[in-house]
Amino acid sequence: MPTYEYECEKCHHLFEQVQKITDEPVKVCPICGGKVKRLISGGGGFLFKGNGFYITDHRSESYKKRKKEETGSITKDDKKAKNHSGKEPAEKK
Ligand SMILES: [Zn+2]
Repeated sequence: MPTYEYECEKCHHLFEQVQKITDEPVKVCPICGGKVKRLISGGGGFLFKGNGFYITDHRSESYKKRKKEETGSITKDDKKAKNHSGKEPAEKK
């Protein structure tokens, strides 16, 4: 079974979850109860495609904008670094 990596959008807690491909993705942070997104190891281009199906239905415009920006050239590691510094690119203009 693949191991999926998740990151909390609220507290930026990173954790891994072993799941079957057919399992529902984790949606809630085990630490703070915030929304989590799934990171897919080794496939930057696939990242948001994989996340979209459960996020897009009720995300804000700012999130969509941010998602669009991140889909460009930012790698997973870059994202981690940004998140650990507490910066939210979408909030800045
Ligand atoms: Zn959290």
